[in-house]
Amino acid sequence: MSGRAKALLGFFVARPLIAVVIAAVVVVGALLFGTHSQKTPVTHRTERVRLTDQQQMQLGDQQYEKTLQQSQAQIVSSGDGYSEVQRVAKRIEAVAGRDKPAFTWRVTLLRSKEANAYCLPGGKIVVYTGILPLTRTDAGLATVLGHEVAHATAEHVAERLERQHLTRVAAAIIAGGVAVTPGQYARVVALLGAGGEAASLPFSRSQESEADHIGLVYMARAGYDPRQAVAFWKRMARASKGKEPPEFASDHPSDQHRIERVRGWLPEAQRAYKPAQSS
Ligand SMILES: [Zn+2]
Repeated sequence: MSGRAKALLGFFVARPLIAVVIAAVVVVGALLFGTHSQKTPVTHRTERVRLTDQQQMQLGDQQYEKTLQQSQAQIVSSGDGYSEVQRVAKRIEAVAGRDKPAFTWRVTLLRSKEANAYCLPGGKIVVYTGILPLTRTDAGLATVLGHEVAHATAEHVAERLERQHLTRVAAAIIAGGVAVTPGQYARVVALLGAGGEAASLPFSRSQESEADHIGLVYMARAGYDPRQAVAFWKRMARASKGKEPPEFASDHPSDQHRIERVRGWLPEAQRAYKPAQSS
């Protein structure tokens, strides 16, 4: 290292806050160079996003750690529900990982009455125990996990950040050194879908439909009979009829159209389906 570099390093070591701010400016600056296009898995749609896989993972991981800290008392780490979630997630993650090798997958089961599940950008999955009475079987759970994981591999959050001009705010949050207002921060967290009951912004209808399509093929690739997805979505539709819809259904189109569309993708999913040797 040259004397000048040493002096520069010494300057930053003495002033860590400045170093963080400069690091953040570098990250944000790199983002100004524009979007890159990528193809969604299965549906092969071209979309434009600005955050790299690595940045998406950092953003998701920050939120995941925060969630685990806040919900420590609700984490389920043994029992039938826990084993089922780990078992099914492992197979779905293996399939999704082929499309996103840079992501690191992990799943956590939280005790909650809410019938919900979500996957953060970069592969961290949260499942609420309240969804398990509706999923009922491994294939039912694979339907939900396939759908949620598809939101991550299709980079739906990065796409929404881009559309809402929040990519730079997200980059600042990732870098951790630039002032972000509480309002901006809340909007990004709401887009991540990790805000729980009222605080999450729903994905668009077309993103939901795309996640259904990709998720169906994922569950089939993972060795779960895709016809079971139709049975699951019917249960969801029934559960949301008459009473207040479960949170999972309220931000997901659980109507007859959805079931018809899923039926339309079944032949494609059947071709991808190889029954697991042992389950
Ligand atoms: Zn969804």
